[in-house]
Amino acid sequence: LPDAPVEALQPADVAALLPRPTPDAQKYTRGVVGVRAGSTQYPGAALLSVAGAASGLVGMVRYVGPDAVADRVRQAHPEVVGPGRVQAWVVGSGGGEHAGDELAAALSDDVPLIIDADALAHGEGPLPAHAVLTPHAGELAAMLGADRSEIEARPLEHAHRAATTYGAVVLLKGRHTLVAHPDGRVRATTTGTPWLATAGAGDVLGGLIGALLAAGLTAYDAASVGSWLHGAAATLAGRGGPLVASQVAASIPEAVQGLPRA
Ligand code: AMP
Ligand code: MG
Repeated sequence: LPDAPVEALQPADVAALLPRPTPDAQKYTRGVVGVRAGSTQYPGAALLSVAGAASGLVGMVRYVGPDAVADRVRQAHPEVVGPGRVQAWVVGSGGGEHAGDELAAALSDDVPLIIDADALAHGEGPLPAHAVLTPHAGELAAMLGADRSEIEARPLEHAHRAATTYGAVVLLKGRHTLVAHPDGRVRATTTGTPWLATAGAGDVLGGLIGALLAAGLTAYDAASVGSWLHGAAATLAGRGGPLVASQVAASIPEAVQGLPRA
């Protein structure tokens, strides 16, 4: 188990860490995030990852994927552009059999990245320290060669172990979201609702964390601030009741507006 106590991130902490445009901001200086997610089999994962990334916290979102999926992304999000330089990558959601290649391409760029879903199986440790892994309990069980029930019984211990093993920030999703740093620090997310247990919610989270990485937050801050905002957006979207993933993405700006003044 980690030595330090688990830190519960507060709204004032999130407000202080949130990237805000300066008066002389330009779209490139605010950060460019690239999304390598989705496939012809799972186009929705691309749309939802992009929706999480395109919530206004960066200057630009790029999408890289199959032409048919890219067409749908552009229809749903006219502000999204094609391949080019990025400051962070989002990899994995709905990537299917291409997830390994997408991860290799993203890693070759040597920028911060968030690795989710299908790409988690391809992330052999040690990863760059600016990487964020976002498994749920089942995915973490597969990564560590453990049973899902073991992860669920002792989530703190396993999140900490995974961060140490991979040398990267590990965000363990579920009823209680934990963000573990390889140096032993752990943050817990205090926002959220069980209504988030719905398809695509994790894809939105990955996109949002990628945007925060591109805006210049550290891997640890991007993961914990992203998770906090995602939970707050979910509560706003469903007013404490039912929701679907695209509503969570749409409510991210309102969650930002609800933060105390930094
Ligand atoms: P995924 O499993 O990748 O679709 O991600 C699901 C998202 O919903 C993550 O952000 C989880 O933290 C969140 N989530 C899933 N189940 C619960 C739950 N029971 N209570 C709160 N949040 C949850
Ligand atoms: Mg998922």
